[in-house]
Amino acid sequence: MPPPSLFTRIIRRELPADILHEDDHCIAIRDINPRAPVHILLIPKPEIPRLADATPDHQKLLGHLLLTASQIAQQHGIGDAFRLIINNGEGAGQTVFHLHLHILGGQKTSEASLGF
Ligand code: AMP
Repeated sequence: MPPPSLFTRIIRRELPADILHEDDHCIAIRDINPRAPVHILLIPKPEIPRLADATPDHQKLLGHLLLTASQIAQQHGIGDAFRLIINNGEGAGQTVFHLHLHILGGQKTSEASLGF
C-alpha cells in the first residue's frame, strides 16, 4: 500500500491547511506558496495521481470539480476573471501526485507569468 499523498493527509486532518471548502467529493485549500493574489487548490478526495490517470468512472467527479471551482472563484471575488490550471506529470511541473486544480485570480492575465 503506497503512503497517502500530502493532500490525503490534509483531507484526513493529519496535516494543517487553510481549508476553504469541503464537500463529499473534494476539498479546497489555500496554496501555501501563492502565485497570484488568490491561489486556491481544489482537490478531489479520491487519490487520482494525475489527470491522465482519470477514467470514465471519474467523469461525474471531474464535472463536479469544474462547477465547484467556478463557485469558489465567485465566493472569493474572482468569479469574472479566473484561471484554472492542472499540471499533469513532472515534465509539466506537477510536484504533488494527487490531482488538483489551481484556481488563480486577482491579477490581469497579462501580468501573470507564463509558468502560472
Ligand atoms: P503542482 O506543482 O501543480 O503539483 O502543485 C502543487 C501545489 O501544492 C504547489 O502550488 C504548492 O505550493 C502547493 N502545496 C504544497 N504543499 C502544500 C501544503 N502543505 N498546503 C498547501 N499547498 C501546498
